[in-house]
Amino acid sequence: MFGKSSRIRARRTGPGAACPACGTSSRRVHSRCARTLTDTAVAGRAADIEPSVRRFFCDAAACGKRTFAKQVDGLTVRYGRRTPAAQRLRERVALGGRAGERIDHLHGNRRRPR
Ligand SMILES: [Zn+2]
Repeated sequence: MFGKSSRIRARRTGPGAACPACGTSSRRVHSRCARTLTDTAVAGRAADIEPSVRRFFCDAAACGKRTFAKQVDGLTVRYGRRTPAAQRLRERVALGGRAGERIDHLHGNRRRPR
């Protein structure tokens, strides 16, 4: 059901990012990677968002982190596969059993309810 989802590409602009460990700001981009996140449905269709997440070098000699990824506020969390909104929805659905699964399906989960 790939054709049924909406794909949204997002790119975070801005010159740099602050290291989460030591706070030193860095403009040296290490790499960029596109991640696919599942968001809550857009107009009844599953929405995948592909934010471009940048990884920066931390240049502070005393800092243990060599590189760090800049998270997009409200959109990405470390190792997250879903946006925070989609994750909250899933958590609510997890409490709801079969009725919850139906709601989950309506909100764009591709797995069909039993
Ligand atoms: Zn650092």
